[in-house]
Amino acid sequence: MSDRIVILGAGLSGVTTAYYLARAGARVTVVDRRLGPGLETSLANGGHLSGGHARPWATPAAPGQLARWLGRKSAPLRLPLRWDPALLRWGLRYLGNCTPARYHANTRTLLRLARYSADVTRALAAQSGIEFDYRPAGLLTVYRSAYSFDHGAAESAALVASGDATEQPLSAAECARIEPALGPAVAAGLLAGAVFTPDGASGDAHRFTLELEQRCASLGVEFRYGAVARGIESRAGRVTGVATSTGALAASTVVVALANGSVPVAAAAGVRLPIYPVKGYSVSVTPPHADQLPRIGILDEDRKVVMTPVSGWLRAAGTAEFAGNDETIDLDRVRPILAACRELLPAATPATTPEDARPWTGLRPMTPDGPPILGPVRGCAGLFLNTGHGPLGWTLAAGSAAMLADWIGGRPPAIATDGLTIERFQ
Ligand SMILES: Cc1cc2nc3c(=O)[nH]c(=O)nc-3n(C[C@H](O)[C@H](O)[C@H](O)COP(=O)(O)OP(=O)(O)OC[C@H]3O[C@@H](n4cnc5c(N)ncnc54)[C@H](O)[C@@H]3O)c2cc1C
Repeated sequence: MSDRIVILGAGLSGVTTAYYLARAGARVTVVDRRLGPGLETSLANGGHLSGGHARPWATPAAPGQLARWLGRKSAPLRLPLRWDPALLRWGLRYLGNCTPARYHANTRTLLRLARYSADVTRALAAQSGIEFDYRPAGLLTVYRSAYSFDHGAAESAALVASGDATEQPLSAAECARIEPALGPAVAAGLLAGAVFTPDGASGDAHRFTLELEQRCASLGVEFRYGAVARGIESRAGRVTGVATSTGALAASTVVVALANGSVPVAAAAGVRLPIYPVKGYSVSVTPPHADQLPRIGILDEDRKVVMTPVSGWLRAAGTAEFAGNDETIDLDRVRPILAACRELLPAATPATTPEDARPWTGLRPMTPDGPPILGPVRGCAGLFLNTGHGPLGWTLAAGSAAMLADWIGGRPPAIATDGLTIERFQ
C-alpha cells in the first residue's frame, strides 16, 4: 500500500495541515481544483486571528436578531426566501444550538481550539520565518451602544472568571489610547466601550497561505493544481486513494479540507457533513497615508464588521447571506461595510465607491454549532476531516492542522477533542 498522505484542498486548512505533516516527515500530496493555493474562501478574509474572542454564531439572541433583520436591505444578515432543503436541515440544527446551554458549551469548545491555535500560529510564524503582516498585539471589539457594551463586557467577564478567556473591558477613552485611529470616533461619541483581547492578532491569510505553500514545497510536498476531487476510494474499511478529474491517486491516508466542497466528496464515502455555505463580503481600501491605518484589528460588534490592517490595506469584512453557492457580488451588501469603516476610521477610509473598494465575496463553510469538524472518520481507517471552519478558519487553521498531524501520527492531540469530531453529529 502507498505510504502517501493526500490532502484535498489547498486553502488555509489544507496547506497548514500539509506543513505540519511534512515537518513530521510524511510524504504529502495536496490536490486542488484551482491553479494555486488559497484562491477561494482564504483569499481576502477579514484577517482577524480571534484567539480568546472566538464565538459561535448560534447565540441565544440570534433568532430574535434574525427576525428583526429579515427584509432589511442593510442588515448584517440576509435570508433570501426560496426552497432549499439543505438550508432547512442546517437551519433547524442551527436553531437547536441557540439555547443558552448549547451556546456556552460551543463557546468553550471554540475558545479551547482558538486559544491553542493562537499559540500554534505564534510558534509557526517564529519557526517558519514566513511574512504575512502578522500583528500579535491583540484585538479590540468595540461597542456602539451602552446596551451592547454591557452585554459584551458581562459575557467576557464570565468567560474570564471561568478561565476560558483572558479579556479586559475598556472605556471609550482607553480604547482610543490602545488604538489611536479610533480617536475621532471616540471624540464624536460613537463608542460606548470596548473589550480588549490580548491573545488576539491579525494577519494576511492569503499571503500566509502562499508563503506556507512555498515552505511546504521546499519540505517535499507535491501540489497538484487543476484537479477536481471526485471521491475517496476504500477497500475493506480502509482508505486506498482518491479519484480526481486528472486520475486516481493511491494513498494510505486522506485529509478532506475542501471547505464547502467537502460535502459532496465526503457524501460519496458515506459521511454526511452538516456544512452550509454562508456568503460574506470584504473590501480592501488603501488609506491616503499608511500611518492612518489602525495598528490592530477591530471588530465593530453592533455592525458585525471587522476592520484590519492587512499588507498596507484597510481590509473590512462582514455580512452573512444564505444564498447557496452563489458568489455574485451585490454592491448593496458592500455599502454597509464601507459605511461602518467611514464612521469608525474616517481617515483610513478614502471616499471610495463600493466598485473601487476591491469588493470580494467568499463562502464561509459553516457548521450549525460553530466549531469545525476535525479528526478521524470512524469506520473508514485513514480518512480524516479538517473542514467546516465557518467564520473562523484563519483563527483556527494552525491549531486544527497541528491537531490533525498529531492524530495522523498516532500522537494524542494537545487539547481535548470533544465537540470537535464528526461524532457530535452522528
Ligand atoms: C467575508 C469573510 C471574512 C472572513 N473573515 C475571517 C476572519 O477575520 N478571521 C477568521 O478566522 N476567518 C475569517 N473568515 C473565514 C475563513 O476565511 C475561512 O474559514 C477559511 O478561509 C476556510 O479555509 P479552508 O481552507 O477550509 O477553505 P478554502 O480556503 O475555501 O479552501 C478549500 C479549497 O478546496 C478547493 N476545493 C473545493 N472543492 C474541491 C474539489 N472538489 N476538488 C478540488 N479542490 C476543491 C478549493 O479550490 C479551495 O482552494 C472569513 C470568511 C469570509 C467569507
